Amino acid sequence: MGGVTVRIDRLLCVGFGDCIDEAPHAFALDDEGIAEFGEAVNGVDRGQLIRACEACPVDALSVHDADGNPLAAE
Ligand code: SF4
Repeated sequence: MGGVTVRIDRLLCVGFGDCIDEAPHAFALDDEGIAEFGEAVNGVDRGQLIRACEACPVDALSVHDADGNPLAAE
């Protein structure tokens, strides 16, 4: 999406929802309270995705550019 690849490690996610606060169109919580991609994730701006990744307290989110370089602290 937008030249970046975002991954959610659903085994690490504990459902705090900080990513949703940062990028409410990119992420949502599923029925079990674990993060999943929101329906409008493809329209979300790259900076917002990076901020959401950085906001995750358990590093369950990662964002990489097209060359596989990390765009946020992992
Ligand atoms: S911020 Fe991290 S732990 Fe919290 S819901 Fe998002 S992915 Fe899960």
